[in-house]
This record gives sequence, structure tokens and C-alpha cells, in this order.
Amino acid sequence: MGTPAGRARPVRVLVDMDGVLADFEAGLLRGFLQRFPGEPHVPLEERRGFFAREQYRALRPDLADKVASVYEAPGFFLDLEPIPGALEALREMNDMQDTQVFICTTPLMKYDPCVPEKYRWVEKHLGPQFVERIILTRDKTVISGDLLIDDKEVIQGQEETPSWEHILFTCCHNQHLALSPPQRRLRSWSDNWREIIDSKRRALPLDPGCLELPQQ
Ligand SMILES: [Mg+2]
Repeated sequence: MGTPAGRARPVRVLVDMDGVLADFEAGLLRGFLQRFPGEPHVPLEERRGFFAREQYRALRPDLADKVASVYEAPGFFLDLEPIPGALEALREMNDMQDTQVFICTTPLMKYDPCVPEKYRWVEKHLGPQFVERIILTRDKTVISGDLLIDDKEVIQGQEETPSWEHILFTCCHNQHLALSPPQRRLRSWSDNWREIIDSKRRALPLDPGCLELPQQ
């Protein structure tokens, strides 16, 4: 796929899955209340910190394994509801000129049935063309891209200077965090994700190979 003369290369957007496309937190609370109705729980507005398991552990140590048993159960990932506007946004993004979209997701360490259910979820909600766009990794810093839209507040790994700019997608567990500039947020899929992509496009260096005039 070539780029027109004088144009920059395409913008590559990596989109996280849980908390950005699939509503992990709502599914987890719903599952926990169903499975452990008498136990204390953390309402979504009180969620703090990326790992629900750690907040439940702080509430009462034995609740850590109980909450984990909810997201490790068969059907959990497959049955997650889409985040409002996510599917429409991803389709529109994928149809934008000079824009590459990948779904970049970290499966549980207990990868079965999480991994196949993630593939099925994408096929069910977005279709087979997006199944081809799935990147599974425990380390997103080694994946190259221009933007990573992700609800995890700090993303670290082997690569100290990842190629992407992390856009923090607002989720119950991170909404209270104050970002240090120039870090940016996407508050929801109704927020202006198009402008974030366009700003990145404007900042891309022109591909030197594309500056030559076409042959007369
Ligand atoms: Mg996530």
C-alpha cells in the first residue's frame, strides 16, 4: 500500500480492548454480584487502581481470589458488553484514509479461555477483518505505533521509549487521576478521537521517498 507523493506515512493507532472496547469493569461487577451476592463489593464509582483484584484484596484478603474467579470463568470475556460508541468509532477509524488500526490487548496469564474468547468477541462485534488486526502481547512497549489508546495509567515494558503516544482512555479506575502534561485523555468514544489522530498525522515527518515528483 503506497502513500501519495509528498504525503506522510499512515498513522498507526493501537487500541486496547478491555476498558476501551469491551466493558471489563461493568462485566466484572455484574459477575461478582451474581456469584457472591452477600459479599462486600467495590461500586464502579469507587474503583481505584488498574487491578480490581488488588482493591478487593484491600477490602478483605479472601475477596481477591473471589473476584479473580469471576474474570477467569468461561464466558466472561466473550460476554462483555461493548463500551458505548466503541464499535462505531473503530469502524470509522479503520475506514479513514492513511490510518491503520490494530487491537492491542494483553490476555490474562491464565490465558485459557481468555484468548479464544477475545478472538470470538472481536469476530462477533467487529467482524473477521478486525480479527486480522488483533495483537496479543504482555508487553505493549515493543509494539510500534503512533498512538496507543489504553485505560491503564502507566504502560511499561522492555522498551523504555515506545514509539507510540499513550492516550489514557477514561475508565472508572482512572478518572480521578491528574495527568501531567503533555499526556492526553480520551474521555469516552464521544470525545474527539478524530482530532487526536489528526494531530498525530500533522506531526508525522514526511516520508522522504514520497517527496520525489512523479515521473513525467
Ligand atoms: Mg485495558
